[in-house]
Amino acid sequence: MIPQTELHSADWQSELRAAETDGTALLARLNLTPRQMGFSAVAAREFSVLVPLPYLQRITPGDPNDPLLRQVLATSEETLVKPGYSDDPVGETGDTIRHPGIIQKYHGRVLLILASGCAINCRYCFRRHFPYEDNRQSRREWLQALDAIAADTSITEVILSGGDPLLVSDQRLTELIQAIADIGHVKRLRVHTRLPVVIPSRVTPGLVSALTATRLRSVLVIHSNHARELDEEVGAAMRRLRAAGVDLLNQSVLLKGVNDRASTLAALSEQLFAIGVMPYYLHLLDKVRGASHFDVSEQAGKALIAAVSALLPGYLVPKLVREEAGQPAKSAIAPLATETADRC
Ligand code: SF4
Repeated sequence: MIPQTELHSADWQSELRAAETDGTALLARLNLTPRQMGFSAVAAREFSVLVPLPYLQRITPGDPNDPLLRQVLATSEETLVKPGYSDDPVGETGDTIRHPGIIQKYHGRVLLILASGCAINCRYCFRRHFPYEDNRQSRREWLQALDAIAADTSITEVILSGGDPLLVSDQRLTELIQAIADIGHVKRLRVHTRLPVVIPSRVTPGLVSALTATRLRSVLVIHSNHARELDEEVGAAMRRLRAAGVDLLNQSVLLKGVNDRASTLAALSEQLFAIGVMPYYLHLLDKVRGASHFDVSEQAGKALIAAVSALLPGYLVPKLVREEAGQPAKSAIAPLATETADRC
């Protein structure tokens, strides 16, 4: 008999293998045409289309404005050259790389780049041009990265990132988390992932165990931009993690044509809370080449957050932030003045 963990693991991996990678075929499944949608094979060659079926099934067939489709379809807008947009908008390929596979941007925290890809290719991704090949780690380099963390007692939090770190097998994650827990000064483990949203079967018993059978406090930060991404299966996956004691947060990106309405953002926060996830950050778009058509201005972002604050209790309003290369922390952006602050 196949152990439960392997059974689940095979499930998510086969769902990943079956992902749609052809933009024309993706549109045909949705009763839409490449011409109607401005599909660009050139853009898809530079950054491939990748959409697993559990996510694809949440897109409404025949709707050219579907907010989930907009996040994953390569279009000709990506080929526009816009001033101010670069391949490395948050400065991750310079001094912040401390060691192959380790990025340090902020005091006390390091990012470990575990995987060189994702389960979905989000067209607005700030790492769409990141040189993953140069940061791919062999097992020896992985151990050296841990040695570098062990030698720096200022590091109290290790963040597993990627690509998507949950592309790594449960067994390897378990080994890695145990090795991190052996470093006495590290207190917290954070995992940044979109995989449980895209393929909820990724939340296997083995993963839950890897995150909880450790002295480290585990925080899982998912990435969801729209309430329709959070269906029953995603909700069930989040509840499994929460019931096991994993703290759950969400970060979103403010995206034109996806979630740039107060009612849409409020619905996302409501749905997150319903499945046990706290809204955390709403990022202004990082100005990465190929994503200018998603940009929402800072002024519009401030007005949106003020409008969301008028609809929701304060604890459901995410912090509006912008990441700027070389800054010691993310820059919080205050909403436009509102008279609706919570007092009780
Ligand atoms: S899942 Fe995250 S890292 Fe991967 S493409 Fe999407 S935004 Fe980028």
